[in-house]
Amino acid sequence: MKDLDVLIIGAGPAGSIAASLVNQAGLTVRVVERELFPRFVIGESMLPRCMEVLEDAQLLDAVKACNFQQKFGAKFLNGTSISDFNFTDQFTEGWTWTWQVTRADFDLALINEVQRKGVPVDFQTTVTGIEFFPDESSLTTVQHIDGSEEQIRARYIIDASGYGRVIPRLFKLDKPSNLDPRKAVFAHVEDRNRQKFDEPNRIIVVNYAPGVWVWIIPFATGVTSVGIVGNFDFFATIPGDTTEQFNALVQGHPYLRERFGDVPLVFSPRKLEAWSATTERFYGKGFVLTGNVTEFLDPIFSSGVMFATVSSQLAARAVIRKLKGEAIDWENDYTKPIQQGVDTFRSYVMAWYDGTLEKIFYAQNQDPLIKRQICSVLAGYVWDQENPYVSDHAGALKRLSKLIDVRERINQPQK
Ligand code: FAD
Repeated sequence: MKDLDVLIIGAGPAGSIAASLVNQAGLTVRVVERELFPRFVIGESMLPRCMEVLEDAQLLDAVKACNFQQKFGAKFLNGTSISDFNFTDQFTEGWTWTWQVTRADFDLALINEVQRKGVPVDFQTTVTGIEFFPDESSLTTVQHIDGSEEQIRARYIIDASGYGRVIPRLFKLDKPSNLDPRKAVFAHVEDRNRQKFDEPNRIIVVNYAPGVWVWIIPFATGVTSVGIVGNFDFFATIPGDTTEQFNALVQGHPYLRERFGDVPLVFSPRKLEAWSATTERFYGKGFVLTGNVTEFLDPIFSSGVMFATVSSQLAARAVIRKLKGEAIDWENDYTKPIQQGVDTFRSYVMAWYDGTLEKIFYAQNQDPLIKRQICSVLAGYVWDQENPYVSDHAGALKRLSKLIDVRERINQPQK
């Protein structure tokens, strides 16, 4: 029997995008997924840059049919200060909206559509081992839910296993992140008081304490996702188990208390911790890593699904060319562009936690052009070299922060 062209590990957004594109190119593809879908996964607020990829992979209509909450921007709240970014007001041309999704439903819609297009997907099937051969083909061992084993020969593997990190773990490619470890405590709540507060069409990020913030992601169903993120030292100061910590943190902030203090939880609060990770390299002989397996930074700017989809699109396109006989320069065609996007967001993540962005977001008399340029980064357009807040991401933020300091000193009343 002819070998499978591409084996995809994982049926999250990264896996579905890759499967759909490889299938569209007329190659044979199969997806193996450890869980039974729908399954819970965090990552509910998307960025407009995802939409281009969903469209290219012919998966946009399947998601539209789910009627998820539309998302038009991001609002940051610090006490009474507000910084509102609207995706219609961007420097880079692109999509001006996206969705806020329950990921179980979003991921199910994507993989259902992939299956409908004829791609076989094996759920509850876990990759346990892989052997690569000199011609770059491979033999993957999977275990099905009934305990039986199967070996799958493929010409190429796309590892889209997210937090499973299958190939980095099997081949010891894991590398620690240079970001500090953090923790999130989160739940879905029945947002009965929503109408008295903000419109549901954006993510709201609340500055809770220095280095501690809260996501508020309303869904179309009236349920809202609420999560508190901080470092381990911060959480160590809050007594109790995860539920007690969640309740204490909600009660400890006026906005959260008023909006969520008396509403039922849809599920008991859960925690996630120390999620930042990266790998030695994003590709090797016979495989490419996509999505969270490459690098996951931090949830603050909702960049996870955007990177999952964009990296999978780029990787799938390269694998297709490779299997059709072209030589691929993996470093320049794949690693460098993805790394450049990741590094841009890394500067923003670091500037968020060191207070630089807080100063920029809540400054008086903001320059509208700079706001549009930063808005494009927040929409996921981190490959537009015309945008100085992309091309010189770290330097531009530092300079702007210094300028704000100088302006504030000049405007201070003389003693
Ligand atoms: P996943 O969605 O994790 O899918 C990988 C799949 O691979 C899984 O279904 C898994 O079961 C399967 N798998 C794993 N191991 C194996 C194996 N051995 N064999 C077979 N299958 C396997 N991102 C956003 O865009 N917006 C947000 O608001 C956001 N919030 C976040 C909040 C927190 C606290 C954290 C930690 C992350 C957040 N993220 C967010 C990031 C987001 O969760 C991920 O970036 C996104 O899910 C990555 O998608 P993926 O397709 O790469 O992986």
